[in-house]
Amino acid sequence: MNTEHTREAGVDVAVIGGGAAGLSAAVALARSLRSVVVVDAGEQRNAPAAGVHNVLALDGTSPLDLLTAGREEAERYGARIHRDRAVTARRHGEGFEVGLAGGGVVRSRRLLLATGLVDELPDIPGVRELWGSGVLHCAYCHGWEVRGQRIGVVGTTSLSAHQALMFRQLSGHVTLFTHTMPELDDQTRERLTARDIGIVDGTVERLRTDNGTLRGVVLTGGYEFGADAATVTPRFLAREDLYEQLGGTLTEHPLGAFVGTSHMGKTDVPGVWAAGNSADLGAMVAASSGSGAAAATAINADLVTENADAAVHARGQTAGHR
Ligand SMILES: Cc1cc2nc3c(=O)[nH]c(=O)nc-3n(C[C@H](O)[C@H](O)[C@H](O)COP(=O)(O)OP(=O)(O)OC[C@H]3O[C@@H](n4cnc5c(N)ncnc54)[C@H](O)[C@@H]3O)c2cc1C
Repeated sequence: MNTEHTREAGVDVAVIGGGAAGLSAAVALARSLRSVVVVDAGEQRNAPAAGVHNVLALDGTSPLDLLTAGREEAERYGARIHRDRAVTARRHGEGFEVGLAGGGVVRSRRLLLATGLVDELPDIPGVRELWGSGVLHCAYCHGWEVRGQRIGVVGTTSLSAHQALMFRQLSGHVTLFTHTMPELDDQTRERLTARDIGIVDGTVERLRTDNGTLRGVVLTGGYEFGADAATVTPRFLAREDLYEQLGGTLTEHPLGAFVGTSHMGKTDVPGVWAAGNSADLGAMVAASSGSGAAAATAINADLVTENADAAVHARGQTAGHR
């Protein structure tokens, strides 16, 4: 839908973000006959990956195909999807007003933030180029695909040792490059050694690639270790700008920061819910989709109560005038 000068007057719910979380929410809301607008900038986190895994019955589907099908499903039930970026969010009367980069405005009674997170990658040549193919972070997403291969774990946080142990479950050829991670304590070093994980102290200078394929991990000084895949531990940072404009503050986490929520995605800001990776840094596609659907049911229930209260009020006024 062309969003130039979009002016959505008072829909029930504005969903910001059209990934697994936002689209699942949109489907559940639209199926409850709620008017819903999804604003999506189209930067789904797993877009660089060739296929999605651990999503039951959809294994290996391309992330873009999955989203195209999700958009079509949401639209079939009446949700409207705007390809645009929400740049402002503020209270407007009893609800919200969201300003779009394309110049439009969406007004809604409730707001769902399904804006995902940004993977802050270590600044090592080769990492960004191979992100989602030869460079991984999640053993569940693409660990199977590199099982038995030579895997180099680039250490950036204390959790990198655990990541090495996770990938050791999938391959007997795992090497941990300590790079910038804190010094290993004795117990961790013992665990890694007992699991035959090589430990290489030194700074990773770059990943050597050949036609888009990882060939090796190169240390400062030029020494190269052959590798078929590398792993990193990004900092996971929920997109915070809209939430902060609404008065919210991200919650710190050892791996990054997220929008704190209570039951079914309710945030501390009245009328605002969050789902997917913005609220749960570890949520994979299925969990993101589930949390989007759960938030949608909570929002719908909230609106049902509001509608009922408004009806009671209107009824009282009518009776008063008789
Ligand atoms: C390389 C990689 C591979 C992965 N592979 C798998 C896998 O195989 N299986 C699996 O289960 N999980 C996988 N994941 C995790 C998966 O990507 C996430 O679980 C999922 O994307 C979270 O969905 P989401 O809807 O919360 O966020 P996203 O999918 O990131 O969607 C958020 C959307 O919100 C939009 N947005 C953000 N801010 C705004 C704004 N202000 N205005 C408008 N739109 C906005 C973004 O552009 C984006 O389209 C992988 C992750 C990575 C990084």
